[in-house]
Amino acid sequence: MCPRCNIEAETPLHISTRCGPAQEVWRQVNLEWTLSGNHEDYWSWFTHLMRSSDTHACFTIAITIWGLWYARNRHVMEGKQQHALEISAKVISLVRELKEFRAKLPEARITMKQSWTPPTDPMLKLNFDTAFHAQSRQSSSGFVVRNAQGQVLGSGMVRNNFVSDPFMAEMLACLGWSAICH
Ligand SMILES: [Zn+2]
Repeated sequence: MCPRCNIEAETPLHISTRCGPAQEVWRQVNLEWTLSGNHEDYWSWFTHLMRSSDTHACFTIAITIWGLWYARNRHVMEGKQQHALEISAKVISLVRELKEFRAKLPEARITMKQSWTPPTDPMLKLNFDTAFHAQSRQSSSGFVVRNAQGQVLGSGMVRNNFVSDPFMAEMLACLGWSAICH
């Protein structure tokens, strides 16, 4: 049972679309359409969204899902509840900031390095690692996204300049999600 709402099982789809502030957040980031349709599991919902979206929307969707999971973890692990407006404001500001960074980035080099254990269906596994150099404000990020069948949905490596802090460096690694759209 979901520890936050006690209404239904705490599945990835529940956290991302139904629990607590989730629906309000999707409305506030102008992606209410993502809640329509009757999807049985997270994987079918997520692939539907990725296939129906352009790069910018894919990007916003990925950040929104991240924001909802971050809010869930803060609530469950630290007892700190975030309001929908707080979450959506953070999502919108991250999307804007990352868009600006993205405009400055050299083109991502796509790699397909394989060495990995699969997630349990319907979870996706996003592995990424980031090195951050504070003095030069540069970071290097490598990432790979796969499903339970081991299909690579996106992978790559980017070097980023003008990175403000390690948190932003980690977030920049999520840029790779946009590769899923193509
Ligand atoms: Zn819940």
